[in-house]
Amino acid sequence: MSEESRPTTSRDILRELVARDSTSATGNRGAVDVLEEVLAASGAEIHRFDEPDGINANIIAVYPATDAPGSAAPGSAAPGSAAPSPSSAPSPSSALFRAGEDDPERVGVMLAGHLDCVPVTGQSWTSDPFTLTERDGRLYGRGTADMKGYLAVAAALAPRIAAAERRVPVIIAATWDEETTGTGARHLVEQLEELQLRPAVCFVGEPTSMEAIPAHKSMNTLRAEFRGIAAHSSLLPRGLNAIRYAAEFIDFYHREVIDDFRENGPRDDAYPVPYSTGGVNVVEAGNAINTVPARAVVDLEFRALPHLDPQQVVDRLQERIDRIDAEMRGAIPEDPADPVAAEQVGATLTVLNLLYGLDGSPDGPAATAAVALGADRTEGKVTYGTEAGIYEHAGMAAVVVGPGDIAQAHGADEFVTPEQLERCEAFVAALIEAVGR
Ligand SMILES: [Zn+2]
Repeated sequence: MSEESRPTTSRDILRELVARDSTSATGNRGAVDVLEEVLAASGAEIHRFDEPDGINANIIAVYPATDAPGSAAPGSAAPGSAAPSPSSAPSPSSALFRAGEDDPERVGVMLAGHLDCVPVTGQSWTSDPFTLTERDGRLYGRGTADMKGYLAVAAALAPRIAAAERRVPVIIAATWDEETTGTGARHLVEQLEELQLRPAVCFVGEPTSMEAIPAHKSMNTLRAEFRGIAAHSSLLPRGLNAIRYAAEFIDFYHREVIDDFRENGPRDDAYPVPYSTGGVNVVEAGNAINTVPARAVVDLEFRALPHLDPQQVVDRLQERIDRIDAEMRGAIPEDPADPVAAEQVGATLTVLNLLYGLDGSPDGPAATAAVALGADRTEGKVTYGTEAGIYEHAGMAAVVVGPGDIAQAHGADEFVTPEQLERCEAFVAALIEAVGR
């Protein structure tokens, strides 16, 4: 991009980001290139981490704290420097972005988002999903709400972040592969550590219509695999039926884990579904109607209230799998139809992804900071997972706040409204004012 063609407004940057298809199959590097160009031009310290897969990258743009000799202590605005406040509440200051005595080295604020999108396959769009299209007062395109809009706003305001006095560092970070595994966010945590960046507060810009969402469930996916012995069904004793053992596990999971979540809690009525949920959602098994099945693969998920440790659930499932594994090995026939398969008999459990829950409160430091900058306060908690739980787990106070509506996030004709982008611009502008005070 030449200087003349480099986008500068939120909308122009969003257009460029939308034009780069960044589904998990394509990778997000095209979109990262756009963001890197704009953020580098603002004067940020850029740290880019290309993944060995050749298609994905994380990017971290840092605006370190500026030296402000003789300036007032953080949190006490110099006389006459504070913008007039509409209410009696004190103007938001950089004190919002200090963890305080508990962890004095944790300072600064991070605007974080993912630059991957869900695919458009099988969806019927009114206009090209990779061309930002304004229609009926809305901006349509894949990723406009989830969540290129937020990063476009952050990038558009980057020159103002760079020019501002900053009592604390400001970080803009974009990741890959949120939509499937959350790996990009997990890598980001390591990369921040490597760079010795320890922000106190993180705003994750998933679409919330600019509400400050303090909490969400964890989102966890696992695969159980059962290996039996194929045999002609007329010679039943020489085979071992994998589906039978899979069924035992599926029954256990639904009855003793999932039903137990519902019947015995814990409960939190701030969630639309006030208890942990889950289920077996995909089963692949069997060879033919007259063949003892050699294999069954069972994919399951659970979404747990954030204070329930997903690992505890995994441990319970593993215990059951170990029992079934022993049961299957004990049932290997003396004269198996397939001696090679007989050596592989058993059951295994693999964790595909554990996406931590977010366990903040509307009065916690991250939600308080977001509301002070103009986000809407809400007691509401959501059932979808985000990277915010990963950042909270890493020690930051995190809240989900971004432009657009989650209802549009993954479907056809995804859009964000210009009003939502403007609200987000006002939010980031307020943040820039606050870090200087
Ligand atoms: Zn998202």
